[in-house]
Amino acid sequence: MASQTGTIVQESLAALLKDSSFLPELQSESREQAFASLASILSTPNKIHKAFLRISMDNGEVVRIPAFRVQHNHTLGPYKGGIRFHESVNEDEVVNLAALMTLKNALHEVPFGGGKGGVVISPREHSAKEINLICQKYVHYFSDILGPDKDIPAPDMGSGDREMDWMMAEYKSIRPGEPYRGSFTGKSVVNGGSLGRREATGKGVYFTFRYMLYDFLKEQRTFLSNTDNKFAQTLLSYANKPMSIAVQGFGNVGSVAALEAHQCTLLQNKVVSVSDRNVMLYNSDGLDIQALIDFTTKNKGELPTTEEQLSLFDIKADIHDRDQVLDLDVDVLILAALEDQIHKGNMEQIKARIIVEGANAPVTGEADQYLSEKGVIIIPDILANAGGVIVSYFEWLQGRETQFYSEEEVFKLLVEKMKGTMDTILPQYFGDPFSLRQNCFIHSVMKLVTVMYRQGKLY
Ligand code: NAD
Repeated sequence: MASQTGTIVQESLAALLKDSSFLPELQSESREQAFASLASILSTPNKIHKAFLRISMDNGEVVRIPAFRVQHNHTLGPYKGGIRFHESVNEDEVVNLAALMTLKNALHEVPFGGGKGGVVISPREHSAKEINLICQKYVHYFSDILGPDKDIPAPDMGSGDREMDWMMAEYKSIRPGEPYRGSFTGKSVVNGGSLGRREATGKGVYFTFRYMLYDFLKEQRTFLSNTDNKFAQTLLSYANKPMSIAVQGFGNVGSVAALEAHQCTLLQNKVVSVSDRNVMLYNSDGLDIQALIDFTTKNKGELPTTEEQLSLFDIKADIHDRDQVLDLDVDVLILAALEDQIHKGNMEQIKARIIVEGANAPVTGEADQYLSEKGVIIIPDILANAGGVIVSYFEWLQGRETQFYSEEEVFKLLVEKMKGTMDTILPQYFGDPFSLRQNCFIHSVMKLVTVMYRQGKLY
């Protein structure tokens, strides 16, 4: 399990073990033994599946591509988690991401366990035909362990609705007569996907920020003013204040979160910077996010990199090196690209007072501790980027019912679910010295321990 995730799980278990009001029926020696067995259950996946997909490339060459499916824990329901297509995918990474899914689903009361998949390829270097073959082979190798009530993949970095459509079609042909609609989520709408799934993660990312900075701050101002909690002081310092926002990553998650921020009328936001794998764009008066989305839609998802391209779309921005987005003097930094972006080497340069993790694990454990000690509010991945899996759950339900919701209904349900989690977690966070991540993990672990205990699985 990821060192940061593993460490926080261990800390959460240690805190719960000492808390006599938690599961009082589990006492004395049996309590210690049960918690020790829980630590080992959560720190190791149930199963790691690995295959080498044999693919015939367009040029006639036949290659073997490593692929993984990790099933971490299914206490709360079928395994659930995306399949990442990226050249840096490796077994440890997939195990860590699968563990995070177990905890994320527990936190948001989504009735799924945690899983994750990965394929070691650089998707941009393959033709559509090759990717199609890779998708088919992935399902071919792993079909026995997948299924609507066993393990339900979804898109992740490098994969999208196209890949899920191809995978579901292969699953259906391998298993004729069996239920298949709920076997993959994140499919295209025409193929049984949910309206709103594509935007769900980015919308959820922005919602967690807006809910804290607007709704919670407005409703709980007296409570926040009466505590000397350092995070409460940071939050209060932004009451009715304009905020500058930078967004790292302008793909599915980052572009939607940036647009939400740009269009939000409840807060005085200005998105001054966005970045992608090639470039960082900056405008202190605020960027035209819709124009940037229009550009990326026509340019293989990439931001403009030249003055000429900017003027073609009438976009006013200065062009900078991509990594400069991290140490900009902004109030808010939304991280929506990769893991480990803020680390020991650059944590002292970070000026943002609020960080929102759209990506999974973009802040290392060391940097998280350093910034939290300084009172920086970090809205962690487990809380902020769950919109995708929540709407995946709605897609899975719709597939079972063969009854489809409108986009409006989907977003209403998404916001209700995320609000429920925020209302449980935020009062604790602003009342005690733990980080928001620690509070979320304690809540997830409490849920998992309680359910495992009731199922007679802890001994
Ligand atoms: P994506 O492939 O659509 O977009 C990734 C973006 O990051 C692209 O704009 C890319 O150019 C940019 N990027 C890559 N390397 C970069 C770098 N070094 N610096 C700056 N930008 C860089 O991926 P996505 O679906 O938006 O996912 C982004 C992150 O969010 C991933 O960590 C993913 O695991 C996580 N996430 C995604 C979802 C989802 O539903 N898509 C759900 C939960 C978590």
